[in-house]
Amino acid sequence: MFPVVLDDLVPVDHVCRVIDAFVDGLAMAELGFERAEAAETGRPGYDPRDLLKLYLYGYLHTIRSSRRLEAECLRNVELMWLLGRLYPDHKSIAEFRRMHVEAVTNAGAELVRFARSCGLIKGEWIAIDGTKFRAVSSRDSILERNALRRYLDSCEKADEEQQATIDPSAVQAAMEKLRHHKEPEVGFIPVARTNAPAYNVQTAVDAEHALILTHAVTVDAGDNRCLLPMAEAASKALEQPATLNVVADAGYSNGEQAGRCEELGIVTHVPATRGVNTHGDGNFFNRSAFRYQAETDCMICPAGKALKRKQLSRKDCAVYYQAEASACGACSLKSRCTQSAHRMVARHLHEEALDRMNQRATPALMRLRRSVVEHPFGTLKYRIFGHPRLLLRGVRGAQTEIGIAVMAYNLKRMVNVLGASSLRQKLTAA
Ligand code: SF4
Repeated sequence: MFPVVLDDLVPVDHVCRVIDAFVDGLAMAELGFERAEAAETGRPGYDPRDLLKLYLYGYLHTIRSSRRLEAECLRNVELMWLLGRLYPDHKSIAEFRRMHVEAVTNAGAELVRFARSCGLIKGEWIAIDGTKFRAVSSRDSILERNALRRYLDSCEKADEEQQATIDPSAVQAAMEKLRHHKEPEVGFIPVARTNAPAYNVQTAVDAEHALILTHAVTVDAGDNRCLLPMAEAASKALEQPATLNVVADAGYSNGEQAGRCEELGIVTHVPATRGVNTHGDGNFFNRSAFRYQAETDCMICPAGKALKRKQLSRKDCAVYYQAEASACGACSLKSRCTQSAHRMVARHLHEEALDRMNQRATPALMRLRRSVVEHPFGTLKYRIFGHPRLLLRGVRGAQTEIGIAVMAYNLKRMVNVLGASSLRQKLTAA
């Protein structure tokens, strides 16, 4: 007897009502979304609120492509309700995502602030970890880009040495190709037992409910330089608490950054990685057999002799200590210590900070780390992305996609913890 009302088709505890309440509460213009206020002249553009809602809904349902989102708007009842039966075309949908990297990050930070205000984020223990997401560019495209760079470098070198003839048209063509390459930053990173063009996505996760506090996209294959920037970003997201405990795996072992974290009141719990002595088939005294004597700035060897400071290498972050040749020559332990005339031992430039960090990294904390960080990565990669390959090119593109995915993940997590109805009420009241 009565026409169907869209509102009746969407359950009261459906996640799209949560998305609606969250996005409606955002100050879009302040966060940096363009066209948040309709222009006085010309045809009005799509409200960024609608497009953000569309993306959050899409990422929560493993729909990331703008063409698929366009199709969903025409047939999906939940999206018809969420967007008020708006049918944006795929170009407008794609353009919104392309141009709003900072605004998406700011909106994600707003959600984190809200989660803190609800007590869902305690901010006492944070786990940091990184995972790899494949880039859009193919392996061949990156190999060709690298070959072009090598070719241009060799031309420059030959030009300096004035010893070879250079074909200007070939150089011009190579420069043109490089200029138009869509992913100039991405490099090869080990992903699933192979090397592939990929980005390293870093996250800092709060241990209370595994909500992601902050994230970053880097082109570094390793995590070694990410401890301080991620810990600082987490501290900023928590508005600089007096103390913050950070746990991470041995890939983050960086004495210099651990020392800097301590100065900022961030207590790091990371197992330290140290080089293993492979000389003499690994049977020679390891570095741990040598004791540092702070008063004399010497290392004391197993025979009780002092190894004096020989040189400092800032590049290796190490100070090298060397024994007297006369002492080693007369030593009964020499066959277990060195094949050279004297033994040399390296000590990390920030050894004390490394030691303190290592002592704090107990097995229980490493278990806590695993239980906190593995859940978000699994959900991001296989429940939100579907498969861990990005759709947008470049670091900025990756940041936007990960930003939306992290927001979708946090919303999903909050719904699981609080329930959709309760979360919606809190969002509306905020
Ligand atoms: S060989 Fe030299 S460094 Fe090694 S234990 Fe003997 S005296 Fe010490």
